[in-house]
Amino acid sequence: MLNDYILDYNLMAQYDIQYLKDANILPLFDDKLYRYVGICSQSDESLLSAESLLIKKIYVTKEEILFYLSDFEIRLKLYGLAKECYSNQINSQESMNNFIRVLLEHALQKRSSDVHIETTKDALVIRFRIDGRLKQFFKFELKLYLMLSSVIKLKCNLDITQKRKPLDGRFSLILSEKNIDFRVSTMPTMCGESIVLRLLESIKDKQSLSQLGFSKEQLTTIDNTLRQNNGLVLVTGPTGSGKTTTLYGMLKSMDANSKKIVTIEDPIEYELKNIQQIAVNQDLDVSFELILKNILRQDPDVIMIGEIRDKVSLKIALQAALTGHLVLSTLHTNDSIETLSRLFDLEAKPFIVASTLKTIISQRLVMRKCVCETGCEMCNYTAFDGRVSLSEIFSVDSEISSMISKQSSSNEILEYIKSKGFVSIYDDAKNKIKENITVAEEVYRVLGVIDE
Ligand SMILES: [Zn+2]
Repeated sequence: MLNDYILDYNLMAQYDIQYLKDANILPLFDDKLYRYVGICSQSDESLLSAESLLIKKIYVTKEEILFYLSDFEIRLKLYGLAKECYSNQINSQESMNNFIRVLLEHALQKRSSDVHIETTKDALVIRFRIDGRLKQFFKFELKLYLMLSSVIKLKCNLDITQKRKPLDGRFSLILSEKNIDFRVSTMPTMCGESIVLRLLESIKDKQSLSQLGFSKEQLTTIDNTLRQNNGLVLVTGPTGSGKTTTLYGMLKSMDANSKKIVTIEDPIEYELKNIQQIAVNQDLDVSFELILKNILRQDPDVIMIGEIRDKVSLKIALQAALTGHLVLSTLHTNDSIETLSRLFDLEAKPFIVASTLKTIISQRLVMRKCVCETGCEMCNYTAFDGRVSLSEIFSVDSEISSMISKQSSSNEILEYIKSKGFVSIYDDAKNKIKENITVAEEVYRVLGVIDE
């Protein structure tokens, strides 16, 4: 695999890049004897016959070749700056600052959520997490690591001599005319350190509800729910299933001019216009519980609670929903029916749940197929671009409400909603495979077996 090699971009720059792309050929590096070249079954090898050096062919995939030729100017620049860092002693810190800027700007443009900087026995590897998956973008000589690690720690005001303890910090940079915050974690490893930078604001989450993958019918249901003046709306799913993005999408669709919308978040992930966002801050004794207990005095219309995590937060959420507020929150459960039992596990009273609960949205995220089908520059030659939600919406009607207060079994409730044409998350998945939005392997990975 090309990921195994440290590529020489100066060597590639000696060729016409478009020609390399058309011929599916990637010159990798030279040693004393050979020029190493990546080729695939679709390569036009006539270019190689003109070489004066001996050629050593390395068989890879076409997608790998095209990926390492994509964003060529940025790659060339980064490799140039890396070279400056280890050869130019006087201005090396400036070169490293430029290196970090170009690297992070690229990560942002690629919609990365995290940048992983890792050391191996003989190299420094840089991977980006995009749409939940890690992909290696760059590999440099190991000697770049010490300086990179030091400059990142300097930016966070951390002790640059400390390499044997985990550290964490933050810094911000103006990238693409926006102030971007980075959360940094460093961890000592066998070959050096693993440094992870989380981009606290990324482009991808600026989506509106209609872009998240809900069907037309589901969007209508959500819209009707959000028009209500009171009640509880829950978005459920495991960590990383896009619950927060859905909540933000709901808040953005509301009229914040005529309503007082308050959020309690830990931490605040994105800034929302005209919405009062409150951050939980344990250091300052501004606990989740303290905010919740005082929130109703803020005269809110809509309250978004980042997560219902215990009996206390559920009690307050239900209380607020019962007294004329629309409460939106998330819960860690697998499906809508399980959510009901979870509420009772947290000691919610059935008659209160029956009179407050309006809607449960249960969701997961799967990778969305790229329009190209086989790999292009936009999807980094992975054939997937972005993610889309799979979901089911459980709406509480008067019949379900009375079943909840009577404490009917999950099976009875399930039978009832099925008779009413309930579209389960599995049905949604099947539709999205049929419509070519995602693939069966993705659904299996995320949902397990498709059954029912
Ligand atoms: Zn593509």
